[in-house]
Amino acid sequence: MIAILKLETLNSKLKMTGHIYFIGAGPGDPDLLTLKAQKIIATADVVIYAGSLVNPAILAHARPNAEIHNSAGLNLTAQIEIMRAAAAQGKTVARLHTGDPTLYGATMEQMRALERLAIPYSVVPGVSSAFAATAALKTELTAPGQTQTVIFTRMPGRTPVPDAERLRDLAAHHTSIVLFLSTGMIAQVVDELLAAGYSPHTPIAVVYRAGWDDELVLRGTLKTITARTEAAEITHQALIIVSPVLGKDSPAINSHLYGTAFTPPSRTDRPAIVTLTRRGTETGLRLHRLLADSRLYAPARFLPADQSADTTGYTVSVRQVLHDAFRRHSAMICIMASGIVVRELAPLLRSKHTDPAVVVLDEQGRNAISLLSGHKGGANFLAQRIAHLLGGRAVLTTASDGQQLPPLDLLGEKYGWQLESGEDMTAVIAALVNGETVGIFQDNGDETWLTDLPPHATRYPTVEALIAARPNAAVIISPRILPAELHRAIPRIIVYRPPVLAVGVGCNRGTPADDIIAAVEKTLMQAGLSPLSIATVATIDAKADEAGLLAACRQKNWRLQIFTRAEISTVEDLPNPSPWAMKSLGVPGVAEPAALLAAETKTLLIEKQKFTNVTVAVARRAMKI
Ligand code: SAH
Repeated sequence: MIAILKLETLNSKLKMTGHIYFIGAGPGDPDLLTLKAQKIIATADVVIYAGSLVNPAILAHARPNAEIHNSAGLNLTAQIEIMRAAAAQGKTVARLHTGDPTLYGATMEQMRALERLAIPYSVVPGVSSAFAATAALKTELTAPGQTQTVIFTRMPGRTPVPDAERLRDLAAHHTSIVLFLSTGMIAQVVDELLAAGYSPHTPIAVVYRAGWDDELVLRGTLKTITARTEAAEITHQALIIVSPVLGKDSPAINSHLYGTAFTPPSRTDRPAIVTLTRRGTETGLRLHRLLADSRLYAPARFLPADQSADTTGYTVSVRQVLHDAFRRHSAMICIMASGIVVRELAPLLRSKHTDPAVVVLDEQGRNAISLLSGHKGGANFLAQRIAHLLGGRAVLTTASDGQQLPPLDLLGEKYGWQLESGEDMTAVIAALVNGETVGIFQDNGDETWLTDLPPHATRYPTVEALIAARPNAAVIISPRILPAELHRAIPRIIVYRPPVLAVGVGCNRGTPADDIIAAVEKTLMQAGLSPLSIATVATIDAKADEAGLLAACRQKNWRLQIFTRAEISTVEDLPNPSPWAMKSLGVPGVAEPAALLAAETKTLLIEKQKFTNVTVAVARRAMKI
């Protein structure tokens, strides 16, 4: 009896030999894990990891049946309870911390709690992000003759920083300084450093996700770094490094966006449409027809036999197709439940700087949900575009733009405007979507699209005012030829030409098409107007069969409007009546009255211009189109 009792006590003692390891999991690169850490992870019964800061590839070392927890959703009590329960069963727990666990790891509170419960633990060091970031900068933190000291610190946040450690005081030593947890406060960091007597030209670097595939290195000076960091939208997962060493013998002054470790994935701009069900495939086919340049991936069995080269029927799993599309396309539209998309894409997500735009669409095409990379990636814009094409609605959840942005690339189609220069279309759309300043000048055409402009888009009354404002991008709707200065002042511009000009044309028999085209275009150009704004070319019935005129209109895609002699005769008070027309056709003129009739107005914009065999007059259409 006694012997049995003893054995039980021994057993329960043995059961208490579980162990907790606080492990430095390194900055993100799975190869920067220590061998010791890897061994412990590979045998641990329970793994607790620090959310998105620990690379999932490191979790791959864990046993397949290990119990895995993300600490992001757990408070201290819950974490300790997991450790206690595991230890009570003699299990080992690997508690993974990012970088090295002793820096800003909140490990102390865990260690003290374990001590109170008499649970044994140890700490395994790791490579801190401070070192991965310095490695990315290809420099040292200490260099003879410059500094022999490194300060690791942070700006105060929810966790206060003792008064004696204010950055301006620490910085007075001009040592190397590595700032954790402070990138969201870059402007204050710069203020503190300036207050410490640093010159505005002091080199400084921000390293985002050091050791990850999407590592980003921003270099600059105290003067430039805030704008650069904000432009790159970096607020988290980055370190700020300021050091006298950065200025010397290093390419510090040359700002470069991407670290050497990072090759941006090359993705096609063509959007991928991925479907899963029969109903969804029908919607996918419809969208595929409407959405220029899209590629459709649909289950082979739901696709009609004769498909274009832009359509792929798949027989593999939807996971494989989604993963493939994620790697190859900069935008994807998934016609399926959002839950499927979230679960399947989760392991691939890296950051809003690099992930493609992902829009989820329900089977009926009623709701286009901007799921990922709404701003920078353009998913918000894409969702709006799809909603517009399918007659559904866009669901946007990013802050600051619950409002609908005007679909700039669809304005032409909607209002009948000709796009003059479209090369900047994507860049201007990106500016609008990303909240950069966009200037608008419109002097003709429908203005209803202007009613819901976001605050960063401003309309200017004149082209000169637009140039003076120097926005990041511009949208122009006007028949006016634009000054070269505009293009010098504003880097990204789209120009739409509203069809507002009615061109009256008279010509001699047998005038070649080229002469007519040249006369019309010259007349407009001399008046500073774009031929792309021609709504119609008008003449008298006597010229309705004039071969050169018909050919010119065909070639230029001009609409030809014919007025009868009687109609032409109704127009009175021509500025330049023509004795020749009166004599040969019995009307006071051709070009001028035809232009006025076609424009339904009483005043000419350009009076009759005479060329060898052609006369041209121009009026602006009174009615808005
Ligand atoms: N113990 C960690 C730091 C944890 S505090 C370490 O030694 O690295 C979290 C902060 O660390 C982040 O706000 C960021 O400033 C920094 N950080 C963590 N991983 C990073 C990485 N891969 N690249 C840049 N900074 C990182």
